[in-house]
Amino acid sequence: MEKILQALGTLGLPRPTVVATIRRELAALRTEEAVPEFDGVVKRIRAAVDHLRLTRIQPVINGTGILIHTNLGRSPLGSEAIETLAMIAANYNNLEYDIVSGERGSRASYLEHNLALLCGAEAATVVNNCAAALVLILRHFTSGEKPEVIISRGELVQIGGGFRIPEILEASGARLREVGTTNNTSVQDYEQAINPQTGMMLKVHRSNFFMDGFVESPVTEELSALAKQRRIPFVEDLGSGAMVGTETNPGVEHEPTPAEVLKRGVDLVCFSGDKLLGGPQAGIIAGEAKLVEALKREPFFRALRCDKLILSTLQTTVDLYLNGEAENSIPVLAMMRISPSELRTRAERIIAALGGLPLKARIGESKAQIGGGTLPRSLIPSITVEIIPEGMALSACAARLRSGAPPVIGYISGGRFTLDLRTIFPRQDPDVVRAIQACFGPT
Ligand SMILES: *Cc1c(COP(=O)(O)O)cnc(C)c1O
Repeated sequence: MEKILQALGTLGLPRPTVVATIRRELAALRTEEAVPEFDGVVKRIRAAVDHLRLTRIQPVINGTGILIHTNLGRSPLGSEAIETLAMIAANYNNLEYDIVSGERGSRASYLEHNLALLCGAEAATVVNNCAAALVLILRHFTSGEKPEVIISRGELVQIGGGFRIPEILEASGARLREVGTTNNTSVQDYEQAINPQTGMMLKVHRSNFFMDGFVESPVTEELSALAKQRRIPFVEDLGSGAMVGTETNPGVEHEPTPAEVLKRGVDLVCFSGDKLLGGPQAGIIAGEAKLVEALKREPFFRALRCDKLILSTLQTTVDLYLNGEAENSIPVLAMMRISPSELRTRAERIIAALGGLPLKARIGESKAQIGGGTLPRSLIPSITVEIIPEGMALSACAARLRSGAPPVIGYISGGRFTLDLRTIFPRQDPDVVRAIQACFGPT
């Protein structure tokens, strides 16, 4: 063991982690027929340790052109939120302390107050993510005598890997009452399904796909009128939601805002904190005060609550919106607005810095996407750096850039390795150049 550890040198991982990896690799080798020489063993262990190191959560450069990339951590935070994060993390704070009375205070009341303002709602609260918000809401309204939730078959969707609305509904203990068909649901379908066991009506925003052709579904106003008349809580899972008019950006459609949805008569709306809102991972619930209060009294709410770091960064994010500074300060919103000519200038600079390397580089055009299961039809004109390696396979080029420091994530298209500059921060351009130089330079 000592001999192997010495041969491996410094690896930047905790020693017990390295030792465990060595044991695992040695055990695997023993089951194989041909055991390599010592150098071969060390090489293999080094590869395993390198692989393990790359699985640490670390910053990566997103050249995919997908703004809210769920695999890449969704929305990056802006400088204001980061400053809050550092300050709150390093100090004690008044999370549940009332500074005026010197006694125990309520958690995140300022944030809840401002979230409600931003959503045009009576009240709002925050849990871990939108899925948690949905489970909390379902558990609350579909317990006991009224276990059923009515939902259109056209909205029984899969959101991302392993997140299917019907499964979430069932995991929460609710009984699914499907109405209508995939492409056609009417108010009458809902009306006929209402019975004494109906606990709530749920509308799920079709955030990550669209249907065309013979498609009909009732407008929210009609459904909310029905829900009010029958005294059934009516909730909309908005998924992303946006607080600003996304349609002001070329190529981007309108994403409904929580305020719009509430105005149409929905009792409660829930949406994510780290999609188009551009904050930390969170699930925001906004709407009628008495319903929000009831949700907060659920014992289960305690299991879903956010910590001080999330609550404080979300607080800063919400204040940016209320101050009218969001579109410049929230990275995903700022990224949507950058002009192609600005991107082109950056691409020219990057390409100029790549001279002398065994590759051909040129400027390309592309369509950046919102991602995160949001606005699937929106395509933002964008600019790319395209690379054709000489003497290296495209896949090898992509793999080497992925395993660099920092990792650079691009995509292969039309025989080129492509980096979309819309999702790369300008401050990262020198890192991109260095990464490509390291990939193609002498090793
Ligand atoms: C993304 C999404 C969710 C899940 O949100 P999380 O914050 O990731 O839990 C739920 N519903 C819809 C419609 C979504 O688009």
